[in-house]
Amino acid sequence: MDDDALIIVGAGIGGLTLAAALARDGRRVRVLEQADALGEVGAGVGLWTNAARCLSAIGVPPSLWERGSEVRCGEIATASGRVVSRVDVAGITSAFGAGSYVVHRAELHAAIASLVDPATVTLGARVSGLEQDADGVTVRLDGGGAVRGALVVGADGLRSAVRAAILGEAAPSYAGETCYRGVCDLGAREPHVLREVQGRGLRCAVCSIGPGRIYWWATRPAPEGEPDVPEERKAALAAWFDGFAFGFPEALEATRPDAILRNDLYDRPPAPSWSAGRVTLLGDAAHPTTPNLGQGACMAIEDAIVLARALAAHPTDHARAFAAYERARMPRTSRIVEQSRRVGRIGGWSSAPLVALRSLAFAATPDFLVDRVMRAQLGYDATRAPL
Ligand SMILES: Cc1cc2nc3c(=O)[nH]c(=O)nc-3n(C[C@H](O)[C@H](O)[C@H](O)COP(=O)(O)OP(=O)(O)OC[C@H]3O[C@@H](n4cnc5c(N)ncnc54)[C@H](O)[C@@H]3O)c2cc1C
Repeated sequence: MDDDALIIVGAGIGGLTLAAALARDGRRVRVLEQADALGEVGAGVGLWTNAARCLSAIGVPPSLWERGSEVRCGEIATASGRVVSRVDVAGITSAFGAGSYVVHRAELHAAIASLVDPATVTLGARVSGLEQDADGVTVRLDGGGAVRGALVVGADGLRSAVRAAILGEAAPSYAGETCYRGVCDLGAREPHVLREVQGRGLRCAVCSIGPGRIYWWATRPAPEGEPDVPEERKAALAAWFDGFAFGFPEALEATRPDAILRNDLYDRPPAPSWSAGRVTLLGDAAHPTTPNLGQGACMAIEDAIVLARALAAHPTDHARAFAAYERARMPRTSRIVEQSRRVGRIGGWSSAPLVALRSLAFAATPDFLVDRVMRAQLGYDATRAPL
């Protein structure tokens, strides 16, 4: 039997934010998630003002921010301990009326999931493809089942099956870097500073995710899909980042070796469209980005808010709703994906003269310019952006 529900494929940060936003509007949704349980990986995530504002708008309680840590200052420093760039994040966020935070991913995911009716989420449902006709969409599941809905939103991440079904199977672009992440029980020396420490091809950061808890990440240039022995990651990182200033070696030392994650970093060039008929995309499925600006999850959250607003503005005309959504979202997301890739390319420089030049350039860049770039990113308000 045909169903009038909107099907969301993927119960990640973006998919669940959309489900929560649509439920507030009284729209029937069904979420299909391949995993057998809802959850997120053991890492932190930076949520800037632009995302924090959206989450507050759908009812995520302030206790999420209280469990994490507020970012008041952003810095870039050299591996030997010299701060070469600083931005007053607290000044910016107070101007926009919402803070910026680093929180544990699992806590963020649980806070959004608590706003979604569990009866609308089907776990263990891996989508393999879809077909659409004049009246709706049939979503095919691994194992032979199918689900029918009026509209489909692919929120199924970097290697989205929904994207492949409507835009083709093109692989994402490897950025040339791999990223390690971990959390440990250690108090941060400077809990409100988010600082990227840059060496020769190597970068890392140590951030508080609440009292007595640290989240760290570290990147290095590597061939795509390089062979990896998880149990050897900790010792290898300790050797590569030996002597780095600002606490990375200590945080690594306090991390369980079996809790270190590793991901190769990818993005995609901006697509001319994210929609086909009754199907559209959101978050990493639409515009995956390297994490250099910490905006991937933030943009997925923004997408969800803008798409929910577009569907509310055109409740009986999905073509107009999807067109308004794309118009509102494509310029910003394309700009951030491109900026992030540029930042990663410069951050990955490994020759000594280039690394020295990079530090000089950061030190010579006037604060007001950094402030302006940050304000453009953080000041965007998805709850009001014109449709
Ligand atoms: C190392 C690293 C650090 C990062 N740090 C930050 C940060 O600090 N700040 C930030 O904003 N962003 C950060 N990001 C980016 C952020 O993690 C992503 O942009 C964000 O998770 C995207 O959310 P999403 O909901 O679109 O996709 P995902 O989080 O990938 O969720 C997709 C969901 O779909 C499900 N799924 C996939 N395929 C199917 C299928 N066929 N059928 C059914 N379900 C399916 C998955 O199981 C998953 O639950 C980082 C990324 C990396 C790799």
